Amino acid sequence: MQLIDGKSLSKKVQDFVKSEVEVLKTEQGMVPGLAVVIVGDDPASHAYVSMKEKACKNVGFYSIAHKMPDTITQDEIIAIITMMNNNPHIHGILVQLPLPSHIDTNKILEVIDPKKDVDGFHAYNVGRMVSNLESFVACTPLGVMKMFEEYNIELEGKDVVVVGASNIVGKPMASLLLNKNATVTITHIYTKDLKQHTLNADIVIVGVGVPSLIKEDMVKEGAIVIDIGINRLDDGRLVGDVDFEKVSSKCSYITPVPGGVGPMTIAMLLQNTLISAQAFAQEKAELNEAD
Ligand code: NAD
Repeated sequence: MQLIDGKSLSKKVQDFVKSEVEVLKTEQGMVPGLAVVIVGDDPASHAYVSMKEKACKNVGFYSIAHKMPDTITQDEIIAIITMMNNNPHIHGILVQLPLPSHIDTNKILEVIDPKKDVDGFHAYNVGRMVSNLESFVACTPLGVMKMFEEYNIELEGKDVVVVGASNIVGKPMASLLLNKNATVTITHIYTKDLKQHTLNADIVIVGVGVPSLIKEDMVKEGAIVIDIGINRLDDGRLVGDVDFEKVSSKCSYITPVPGGVGPMTIAMLLQNTLISAQAFAQEKAELNEAD
């Protein structure tokens, strides 16, 4: 069994981003900028935003967090996003989810300029991703794809089961795998017999939010298991959706929690923001040439 080390791969990506930021600064006088919009006082969401701000600082980005009370109206959030869409120092905008129930999340995500949609949640980017066209891709599934690439894990023709079908994890994950010619099955809470699917899979990818959902008798010998889940147990421990102790001995590769997919998500956010800043710099250079 080989552990897929998300922590060190994340560091490698962040070091690369940092060096590219230096190039952008020197050659174009530009600093990539990320704006985060967070509504309410959910401690987990605030912890994620703090981690993102810290990561931005480490690679030399400019970052700004708009922290709003959950009494804010939808129109006020839209006004802030519109301001960030028009701010030339901002190249990436992300809205920390979940939003309070009085806010229409889809409406908010649709307001983000698709060129600054570094979370890849805008329908424009989702549509392009499904069509296998260049686009911003949701950071968590993109991080998993980066792991497959780094560990030379071939996807073509493989039977892959994705457990969990949310818009931000399972669905984009399945599309990316399909784009690589894997045979993909998507399962979810209404799937009749989960084990029947996972047991036949070469690769099982789970992002659900249920500790130990994937047990030893649900995966075949030599399977590759990717655990996206993040769950805080009552005793304070952080675990994924896989019974790691028992499942890992059957796997050829497995991701740990913590230290697996989680750090990759942040690395991909930084990478997407860098790509956005580079595209804006290129656009500016072309405009200057045309003048
Ligand atoms: P979600 O609640 O939006 O979706 C959960 C999905 O799991 C749904 O499709 C649901 O049908 C399915 N599901 C729930 N219970 C199930 C069961 N018993 N059997 C099969 N399917 C079941 O959640 P989400 O936002 O997609 O997040 C899922 C998990 O991934 C959470 O633990 C979250 O913390 C984690 N997550 C991790 C990262 C990361 O960076 N590692 C990023 C995003 C989310």
